[in-house]
Amino acid sequence: MAMPPETKSDCEYSDSCDFFVTIMASVPQFSANIQGKYCHADFRDCARYAYAKQHGKGCVPEDLFPNASHF
Ligand code: SF4
Repeated sequence: MAMPPETKSDCEYSDSCDFFVTIMASVPQFSANIQGKYCHADFRDCARYAYAKQHGKGCVPEDLFPNASHF
């Protein structure tokens, strides 16, 4: 059976977001929680998403968390 197409609730950056290969790489258990809350649901509430939309994806601070806090 074919996989369903990407839903509109998925962030367009969910396959390439640097956050999960840098800051969150050592704590994958928290990555799943964040992805469930933001990347595959309320991505419009994500500070990284908003920053990327305003300044460009390559300009997002590495340590900016989706909830707008910094590491
Ligand atoms: S952390 Fe934010 S910008 Fe990155 S994939 Fe998730 S919702 Fe998108």
